[in-house]
Amino acid sequence: MRHTLYPKFLLAYFIFGVFSFLAVTLFVPRITRDYLISKTAQSLYSEASLISRTYAEGLYSSKASFETVSLQLDALSVYMDADIRIISNGGYIILDTAQDIGPNDTSSFIPNFDPSTSGASYYLTGDFFGTFDEEVLSVISPITSDYLTKGYVTIHVSMDDIEKDCNALLNITYISLVIIFLLSLIILIFFARLIYLPLKKITKGAEQYADGNFHYEVNVESRDEMGYLAASLNYMAGKIADSEDEQKKFIANVSHDFRSPLTSIKGYLEAMLDGTIPPEMHEKYLGIVLNETDRLTKLTNGLLSLNNLNTRGMHLDLSDFDINDSIRKVAETFEGTCKKKSIAIELVLMGDELMVHADKGRIEQILYNLTDNAIKFSHHDSVIKIETAEKKNKIYVSVKDSGIGIPPEDIGMIFNRFYKSDASRGKDKKGTGLGLSIVKEILTAHEENINVISTPGEGSEFIFSLQPADVDEI
Ligand code: ADP
Repeated sequence: MRHTLYPKFLLAYFIFGVFSFLAVTLFVPRITRDYLISKTAQSLYSEASLISRTYAEGLYSSKASFETVSLQLDALSVYMDADIRIISNGGYIILDTAQDIGPNDTSSFIPNFDPSTSGASYYLTGDFFGTFDEEVLSVISPITSDYLTKGYVTIHVSMDDIEKDCNALLNITYISLVIIFLLSLIILIFFARLIYLPLKKITKGAEQYADGNFHYEVNVESRDEMGYLAASLNYMAGKIADSEDEQKKFIANVSHDFRSPLTSIKGYLEAMLDGTIPPEMHEKYLGIVLNETDRLTKLTNGLLSLNNLNTRGMHLDLSDFDINDSIRKVAETFEGTCKKKSIAIELVLMGDELMVHADKGRIEQILYNLTDNAIKFSHHDSVIKIETAEKKNKIYVSVKDSGIGIPPEDIGMIFNRFYKSDASRGKDKKGTGLGLSIVKEILTAHEENINVISTPGEGSEFIFSLQPADVDEI
C-alpha cells in the first residue's frame, strides 16, 4: 500500500492533540492548585498578622475585652469564609470563631501543637493537629509583645473551596484547549485544499505521463506554486505530445514517400519479367524506373541532410565569400534544365562582388533548392529572377518566378517536412517535400530569416537574409 501524505498529516494532527491534552491534564492542574494555595495563603497570612498586631495584641495587653475581640473576629471570619483562632503558647485555643470558648475554658487543648511545623513556609495543609475533620489550609502568625511571643493567630479555610476554584479554572483551560484543537482543524482544511488535493492531481498527471498519455491535463487552477507546477507539467506534456505526434507524422510520411516509388519500380519490373511489357518497350519503362530510383536517392539524401542539420548546435563552416559568385555558379548548373523548359534565369546582382559571412556550402544548397523549385513550378518560356540587395546592414537574396504560385492557405506549411501542395503532387512527382525544410533549418542555424511572397497563378518570390562579411571583421 502506498503511504499518502494526508493520513500522515492527520496522524501528526492527532498526535499533537493527544500530547497537548496530556501536557495540560498532567501539569496544569498541579501548577494551578499550587498557585491558588500559595495565593490564598499569602492573603490569609497578611490578615493573620494584622489580627495578631491589633486585636490579639490588644487582648493580651488587656486593651480590648475578650467579647470585643471575639465579635470583631466573628465578623471577619464570616467575611473571609474562614475559621480564625487565637492559640496560646501552650497550645490552648483561647478564641475560636467556629465554636464558643470561654475566657478560662481549657477544654480546647491541642496536645501536639507545634507552630514551627510549617518550616520555611508560612502555611500548612492538613487537619491542623487533628482539630479539623476535613483538610484545611492554615496560616500561623505569632502574637508578639515586648519581644515575647504570647500566642498565635491562625486562620483556616477549607481546601474544598480551593479545589472548587481550581476546578473552575481548569475547566476554562480545558475548554480553551478544545477550542484551539478545533480551530487548528482549519490548518488541516487549508492543507488539504492548498497542498494535498493539488498534489494528488499532479501525481495523477505524472502517472498518466509515465503511462504515455501526454494529452492528459492536470487541472490545478490556483495562482501559487502548485498552480505553476501544474501549468509547467501541462506545458511539458503538451510539448512531448506535439513532438510525438510530429514523429509519428514524420515516420508515416517517410514510409509513404518510400513506398510509392518502390511500388511503381516493383510493378514495372514484374511487368517486364512476365512479358506484360514487351521487350521493345523495356527501354522506356527502365527510364521510368531510373527516374523513380532518382527520387528515392533524392529522398534519402534529403533525409540525411535534414538529420545532420537537425542535430542541436549544427556545426557551421563560416567564412567570407562572394554570394554573387555562388548565385552565378548555381544558375549555371541549371542551364540544361532551363533549356528544356525554355526558361531564362535573369541575375540582378548588386555590384561585382558581394561578400557575405556564412557557411558557403550550405548557402549554395539553399540557392540550389530555391532555384530548383522556381524552375519546377514555372511555366515554359518564363523568366526566373535572382536578385541580391543590401539594406540596413543585411544582404538579401531573392529568387522570384512567375510560375503557379502558392495558395495562401499553404504558405504557412511549405517549410514543414514532407509538405507538398496538392498542385505540386500532381505536377512534380519527383518532389520530396524536404527542400524548403532544409532551407529553413540552414537559415535558422545562421540566425537568419526567409520570407515568401506568392500569388497563385502569378508566381512566387523567396527572399532570405544573410550577414555581410564586414560586420564580423570590425
Ligand atoms: P518539393 O519541392 O520537393 O515538393 P519543397 O520543400 O521544396 O519540396 O517545397 C514544398 C512545397 O512548397 C512544394 O511541394 C510546393 O507545393 C511549394 N513550393 C515551393 N516552392 C515553390 C515555388 N517556387 N512555386 C510554387 N510552389 C512552391
